[in-house]
Amino acid sequence: MDFKIAIIPGDGIGPDIVSQAVNVLNKVGSLYNHNFNYSYVLAGGAAIDATGKPLPQKTIDICLASDSVLLGAVGGAKWDVLPGELRPEKALLGLRKEMGVFANLRPVSIFPQLIDASPLKREIISNGLDILIVRELTGGIYFGERGILPEIDGAFDTEMYTRAEIDRVCRVGFESAMKRGKKLHLVDKANVLESSRLWRKVFVDVAKDYPEVQLEYMYVDNAAMQLIKNPSQFDVIVTSNLFGDILSDEASQITGSIGMLPSASLGDSKCGLYEPIHGSAPDIAGKDLANPLATILSVALMLRYSLNLEKEASAIETTVNTVLDKGYRTGDIMSNGCTKVGTAKMGELVIAELIF
Ligand code: NAD
Repeated sequence: MDFKIAIIPGDGIGPDIVSQAVNVLNKVGSLYNHNFNYSYVLAGGAAIDATGKPLPQKTIDICLASDSVLLGAVGGAKWDVLPGELRPEKALLGLRKEMGVFANLRPVSIFPQLIDASPLKREIISNGLDILIVRELTGGIYFGERGILPEIDGAFDTEMYTRAEIDRVCRVGFESAMKRGKKLHLVDKANVLESSRLWRKVFVDVAKDYPEVQLEYMYVDNAAMQLIKNPSQFDVIVTSNLFGDILSDEASQITGSIGMLPSASLGDSKCGLYEPIHGSAPDIAGKDLANPLATILSVALMLRYSLNLEKEASAIETTVNTVLDKGYRTGDIMSNGCTKVGTAKMGELVIAELIF
């Protein structure tokens, strides 16, 4: 089959890791007889340097005309001096909004080979860890009204959600729970925030369509603690943009490295946005030090959710397991007795092990 994929390498380690993921996709294409046609487009700092804008219209047009979008990461100190509207991060928020990808799926699972890379004690995670965080992505405080109030030397940002925005992302949470352990935690701050109380009402309404799903409620401060104390209690978590952003980074650390975690951002159409959850890691950019596995695993999610290629998706995930089983590690997940490899070598190993 033929597929159109928009590729946004971005900044920092973005080009290092995306090139490995594209190599893996090419191998999948040759093994399974698919043709992936790539359009490389600019976003973030690279786009600012080339066009003066973090998200050029051409990038939006090409992404919207594609079957799927793969993004590395954007940002870096070089652009931190720019005003908010012109910063690289604006490209991410803008692209998510333009693509209408309102649900960000972040699977957090621990590869058994990396159990000692986790900062948590073995006994806390030895039963395995398999959480799916469903984060609302196009609403809430990141998109709400904001401003600077010079008269009081203050500033504000607004958390605002509509019933429709909450309903659609809760449904993604329930649908995901139905395919997994049938348990769904709503994480909010309903003891304080009016918007969280609306989340609870809508959550309960949507739950009527999913009677098999066990409902759990947890305040975000407690959720932050429980993720460390007893992470295996969670199956699927659905939460707002801000809480999901913070909790998923916290959860990523349990797995040993932020360099291992993929994400999928989905909306009503099949065209999704796939990216590792980490940033552009300027400290290791261009040094062959970045772990490309989060991006390679993001490609697996792309094959599964946007291109309906489950066999191919599973093949990538199994292969990552095989490479880890053989003891190969990038620096961020390195442990005694393993073989340390760089970004390019890790990509090559995945390609070499990937079989039909
Ligand atoms: P970061 O995720 O880039 O890096 C945090 C730490 O994790 C660093 O020590 C880095 O070296 C390490 N790390 C990250 N990815 C790694 C990988 N694949 N392999 C090995 N180590 C890895 O977060 P940060 O330092 O807070 O942000 C750096 C820049 O990235 C900032 O400009 C920020 O705005 C941007 N950012 C972008 C995104 C995105 O594009 N989605 C997300 C978060 C941050």
